[in-house]
Amino acid sequence: MTGKSVLQEAREVQRAIDLIELGARLQFLEAEVDLSRERLVRLYKEIKGVSPPKGLLPFSVDWYMTWLANIHSSMFYNIYRFMLVQVHGDRLEALTKSYRMYLEQVQTFGGEPVLDFTRAYTLVRFFQSDMVHLTTCSRCTGQFVAHAYDNKSGYVCVLCRPPSRAGKTVKARRAFTALVEAEPAAPDAADLEAARAGRVH
Ligand SMILES: [Zn+2]
Repeated sequence: MTGKSVLQEAREVQRAIDLIELGARLQFLEAEVDLSRERLVRLYKEIKGVSPPKGLLPFSVDWYMTWLANIHSSMFYNIYRFMLVQVHGDRLEALTKSYRMYLEQVQTFGGEPVLDFTRAYTLVRFFQSDMVHLTTCSRCTGQFVAHAYDNKSGYVCVLCRPPSRAGKTVKARRAFTALVEAEPAAPDAADLEAARAGRVH
């Protein structure tokens, strides 16, 4: 056993509970929470009522580029960036807070969350390893998840160039705009403001 204080231990347990409730997988918990694997497995079973699934799914960057996934990913990452500033760079706190906020946003607009916790976390990892980045749409100036090697000039986002599913598009656009409005203190507030103005027809 490590020489953790009771209080530290309690904090780690609470952290694990929060993460398990958000849908974190065992591999993630082992990397981020200072508790033994045995305790994490027990906590997981108590909270979820089942054993943790084995293995981490190998997610591909391309998944985040498909139409609906790209809207959700971009929405999530814009919240994450804002949160990271709010919590002074604590990545784990930014991740959990922004994931909760993302779920709330989706719920507000009656949609289904497309990003589960593991996908959200994987996206953050892809950003950290420079496999993806945010690219500014040349039409609405919103910031969207794109391949790191994509040509930045003349980029048109998934909202400005949607497939022929008009109803969904209106809903997604509204959700994205609402997200922008919920973040007056975002570091790129000016960009987002411009994005919103650009969408008013
Ligand atoms: Zn656009």
